[in-house]
Amino acid sequence: MPSYKAPLREYRFLLNDLLDLSQYAKLPGFADAPADLVDAILEEAAKLTEEVLQPLNQIGDREGCKLENGVVTTPTGFKEAYKLLVEGGWPALVADTQYGGQGLPNALGVIFNEMVSSANMAFGMYPGLSHGAYSALSQHGTDEQKKKYLPKLVTGEWTGTMNLTEPHCGTDLGLLRTKAVPVGDGSYKISGQKIFISAGEHDLAENILHLVLARIEGAPQGVKGISLFLVPKFLVNEDGSLGARNGVTCGALEEKMGIHGNATCVLNYDDAIGWLVGEEHKGLRAMFTMMNEARLGVGLQGLSQSEVAYQNALAYAQERLQGRSLTGPKAEDKPADPLIVHPDVRRMLLNIKSFNEGARALLVWTALHGDLSHRSDDEKTREFGDDMMALLTPVLKGYFTDRGFMNAVDAQQIFGGHGYIAEWGMEQFVRDARIAMIYEGANGVQALDLVGRKLAQNGGRAVFAFFKAVDDFIAENKNNEALKSFIEPLGRARADLETATMWFMENALTNADHAGAGSTPYMHLFGITGLAFMWAKMAKAATEKLAAAEGGDKVFYETKIKTGRYYMEHVVPETATHLARVRHGADTMMSLAAGEF
Ligand SMILES: Cc1cc2nc3c(=O)[nH]c(=O)nc-3n(C[C@H](O)[C@H](O)[C@H](O)COP(=O)(O)OP(=O)(O)OC[C@H]3O[C@@H](n4cnc5c(N)ncnc54)[C@H](O)[C@@H]3O)c2cc1C
Repeated sequence: MPSYKAPLREYRFLLNDLLDLSQYAKLPGFADAPADLVDAILEEAAKLTEEVLQPLNQIGDREGCKLENGVVTTPTGFKEAYKLLVEGGWPALVADTQYGGQGLPNALGVIFNEMVSSANMAFGMYPGLSHGAYSALSQHGTDEQKKKYLPKLVTGEWTGTMNLTEPHCGTDLGLLRTKAVPVGDGSYKISGQKIFISAGEHDLAENILHLVLARIEGAPQGVKGISLFLVPKFLVNEDGSLGARNGVTCGALEEKMGIHGNATCVLNYDDAIGWLVGEEHKGLRAMFTMMNEARLGVGLQGLSQSEVAYQNALAYAQERLQGRSLTGPKAEDKPADPLIVHPDVRRMLLNIKSFNEGARALLVWTALHGDLSHRSDDEKTREFGDDMMALLTPVLKGYFTDRGFMNAVDAQQIFGGHGYIAEWGMEQFVRDARIAMIYEGANGVQALDLVGRKLAQNGGRAVFAFFKAVDDFIAENKNNEALKSFIEPLGRARADLETATMWFMENALTNADHAGAGSTPYMHLFGITGLAFMWAKMAKAATEKLAAAEGGDKVFYETKIKTGRYYMEHVVPETATHLARVRHGADTMMSLAAGEF
């Protein structure tokens, strides 16, 4: 049976030693999150995720969701677990206080979400999508809509969904056909079919708020004619009570590779009543609020599966006895040494461990800058926060989920044949992790977003701000002997990233296929450089703390530095390969005629 332990020591290191949240104590939300309260929240979150959600992970996988007479039931225990989540006030953690939220920083929110997703990724999608719907409505809804719908989303009494995909329309939303006809009283009748809608129908909450992309009759073709609508499963009366059932039904549940505990629905809209959110024909802009948040949430899913798979692979590698160490027996009292003595097993473990810790740091660092982008009173800090959120969202989504899946596979590998057997739970992590590379914009599309849009935005302001942050750190620490093994590789990774960026600027404008050909290697190059930056910063924080540390803390900081050194030595050199791929461009790739493949 697999297990999960929330990495609380890691979180404390990030929040206190690396990011020092206390320095923001004067800002809204941060003031309400002193270290002792944050600690208490982390402890409670660990209990919920370890004791309630994790034990349901395999059950959810085995049972899946069921559809009978239009009613979807979630796996055994999900309903009770969701009730506990709501009673604990967890959906309100980072929501605005004016709608009943606790208003805490999202830097804390992503930590909570990682724990939930590691414990039970399929379950975590129900509250995850609700929070995305909350954000879209709170940014683009009318005051009346906010008052009517947000408080119930915040408590978790109602959940939310995002409805983009149609059978013939996935990445290319310009093909969307679902139509909206004005009724004349401010509402619209929505008709069409959406597929693959996560958490589209279920028995966890009393109402579901569907955010649906549709085309108002007569609207322009393509993405310029798409609007966003709010379509509740049950209409909501003026006094907030639930009224008639709306014309949206679940036509089928998808049979799928993983996340069986999450209901992936075909939703049929048949003159369902909906209300416009934001402006007519500007639906994509409004939906992007939800999609960007969901992309961070999906990036986090990659990390979450990598973490839980690692924990189980580590325990196995310490117990399973096979063969002897290349340099002579290490467990002489036993018939064989544990797997962990073998360098190749260590290679896999350390690839995963060094990714997890670096990725978690980049996730929390990015979320913190997202917080500062609207909470800081300094304009430059707000601008930097906005830039990092925009630039790094596709990197976190694409790089974290590509690696998350590969890491789950490596963790499974450590189990040998047992990793392939369902009982051990490792193959579930692999199956669950796989979808994160596909949905919320497949990773190839994330890479294109990074290269095609994010690099050029505001004349390259965000990417140059990122380079400057790295350069400042290198300049401040270049004479620090203790950090030499971090600063040098960070400098090389940064140089490779800059060379690749400039190569696009010089070559992709004349031939856009060059951007397309190099975008995925570039996204990985960016991800590795981002993690190298975090590792250098973490090594600095750990080195400083080490001086006065004793016992378990001393071991923690020493291990942190060794793990970071591994990342710098064994992973960062990959940037040179990615750069070479970018520079070869599209010529050979595009020289094959379609029939020559
Ligand atoms: C389990 C599950 C849950 C989902 N949940 C939701 C949900 O809640 N809401 C929702 O709306 N959708 C949801 N989806 C849909 C998901 O977001 C889409 O499947 C995804 O966006 C890709 O669209 P598609 O499947 O039509 O693939 P396609 O768009 O046909 O793409 C196929 C492949 O071609 C590549 N590709 C396509 N266009 C380009 C291009 N221009 N340049 C380069 N490469 C390209 C893509 O990267 C992809 O690898 C879910 C899907 C699944 C399987």
